[in-house]
Amino acid sequence: MKKIIILGSTGSIGKQTLEIIKKDKNKFKILLLSTDKNINLISKQIKTFKVKHIVVTNKKKYEILKKRFRKIKIFSDFNKIDKELKVKADYTMSAISGIEGLRPTINIIKKTKRIAIANKESIICGWELIQKELRRYKTEFIPVDSEHFSIWSVIKNYHKSDIEKIILTASGGPFLNKKNTKNINPIDAINHPNWKMGKKISVDSATLMNKVFEVIEAKKIFDIELKKFDILIHPKSYVHAIIKLKNGLIKIIAHDTNMKIPISNSIYIGEPNQKFIKSNDINIINLNSLNFQKVDSKKFPVIKILKKITEKNSLFDTILISINDELVSLFLKNKINFLDISSKIQLLINLPFFSKFKRQKPNYLAQIEKLNEFVRLKTRTLSVRSKKK
Ligand code: NDP
Ligand code: MG
Repeated sequence: MKKIIILGSTGSIGKQTLEIIKKDKNKFKILLLSTDKNINLISKQIKTFKVKHIVVTNKKKYEILKKRFRKIKIFSDFNKIDKELKVKADYTMSAISGIEGLRPTINIIKKTKRIAIANKESIICGWELIQKELRRYKTEFIPVDSEHFSIWSVIKNYHKSDIEKIILTASGGPFLNKKNTKNINPIDAINHPNWKMGKKISVDSATLMNKVFEVIEAKKIFDIELKKFDILIHPKSYVHAIIKLKNGLIKIIAHDTNMKIPISNSIYIGEPNQKFIKSNDINIINLNSLNFQKVDSKKFPVIKILKKITEKNSLFDTILISINDELVSLFLKNKINFLDISSKIQLLINLPFFSKFKRQKPNYLAQIEKLNEFVRLKTRTLSVRSKKK
């Protein structure tokens, strides 16, 4: 039986991973699941999959769940599971949202033979630390973000120097054709036309910040210079990436808008009777009208941020993630407007104080976490105060 860990099992990616596993239940044993607050859903998951180890990070919810299940081991902190998990998992899905996923992701690498990482924030802020652990424990890594899974599935057969250009596609989110985005509320912003995702990534898709992050994520995972990446708007999201090779070929990778495709491939890849996901096939005729468009930087000003990113990995990447995490959280709490996310992020990353971090390498986890806390606090005070004016 394949032993499985899912970090963030109550989220969009976590739930889809469990749905795939449920269809083939006899082949899997779940070692550990985690949630922040959703103890009702995780209670169902405990019963369905007979899970013995659970992490609940929200303290109040942890106390409640502990009383509900006295016979299984429930922890409030990922650090505590190190000693408890005696066997190594075959597969881990890292699907916590936000930078909070970084510590659990790094921590779990020693406990798993393969790790599929959906949590892009951890790759952007701590890729060198993740890589160090991957090498140390010989853990295999598979990217899950659909663009990165697509690129990975093609370029693992090529040398880096064979690649001329990589284009990531962006749907443009729910407001691509909306003229006035002044009074957007959180419910509209998380209503993505093609994907059902968690709130935070849905807002990032609406501002296009998600695509800025994905370019940085790809640059790190594949170790390819920023200048080789480009972004095109592709409203239907059939095509996930386009790879131009120096041999003249252009590889266009398309699949249905269903995250179960990269997730299930990351679980079953390399196996002889790989399970195939039954999803709505793309009507190939639809591929006649891919409708690629250049990104309008007036509509999506955050795209300009890519010019500020350094080729060398630095703590500045954490600053970008932290400012955005905080602004999105303020927007979801109705404390700032939708357009504030894009305008404030551009202002804040230009604060002179932050520029020195462009020259600093992320060396250890606590350094990234401390910087995150500081930047989030600064973002919160500057953004909410300026709204009152
Ligand atoms: P969701 O918001 O749906 O789920 C997040 C999961 O993480 C939930 O289980 C949540 O628990 C848990 N969580 C949230 N905050 C914390 C915290 N502070 N500590 C511990 N656990 C926490 O997110 P998604 O599934 O949409 O996304 C997960 C990651 O995958 C993100 O980084 C996203 O960018 C990436 N991704 C997602 C895609 C998608 O289609 N959804 C596509 C590509 C990448 P609770 O339920 O209690 O809130
Ligand atoms: Mg993506």
